[in-house]
Amino acid sequence: MTARKERQGGRSAADFLPEKFTIPELQKASRSCEGCDLYKRATQTVFGEGSPRARIMLVGEQPGDKEDLEGRPFVGPAGRILAQGLTKAGIPRENVYVTNAVKHFKWIPRGKRRIHDKPRMSEIEACRPWLEAEIAVIKPLVVICLGATAARALMGPKFRLMENRGRVFEPFWAPWLVATVHPSSLLRLQEHEERMRAFQLFVADLKKAASLLGRESKSMEEAEPVL
Ligand code: SF4
Repeated sequence: MTARKERQGGRSAADFLPEKFTIPELQKASRSCEGCDLYKRATQTVFGEGSPRARIMLVGEQPGDKEDLEGRPFVGPAGRILAQGLTKAGIPRENVYVTNAVKHFKWIPRGKRRIHDKPRMSEIEACRPWLEAEIAVIKPLVVICLGATAARALMGPKFRLMENRGRVFEPFWAPWLVATVHPSSLLRLQEHEERMRAFQLFVADLKKAASLLGRESKSMEEAEPVL
């Protein structure tokens, strides 16, 4: 998968990609993206962030209300669940790069509040050049899709999350991909026990993804020494 400059039919983020692919250049260029209509009602673009040498890339759906105001991904309530999950799974935060499939907050008003509104497939596709560019720069060993939107953005619209969560895929553009639920889905569960069970399953998926890094270091240990 490569970030495309050209896209057949309609506008997309591809028209706003910079010449040079580095995370700071991409971040800067994404601020003026008008690849779909979502920029019109959002405060700002929320681009990915993390170590440029991250071996794990976490991909969520879109920024939430707090992320939209702060301009950073996963700083709201779902971000707190994600941080707890990463800690439990033994994944250091400095080893991950976090981003979203869609870079602008899509919302509907409810009283004074702005409520999350699911992005359409056309919006996910319009925004995908940013995600592809991030993958091209970071070159993660493992991509973890958080939720159905991220999984469909990267694995196609027919991908079924609950049938495939926790399974290891080997897409042609990255060594491994694992899909799990979005941490915000845990926040919607009312019962404490139900939430704890869901959290344990979430951590199990993260651990499965992290264990793939062990496979990589093992294969490197087994590799012939270069003299
Ligand atoms: S959602 Fe993505 S494609 Fe649409 S305007 Fe924002 S950055 Fe551009």
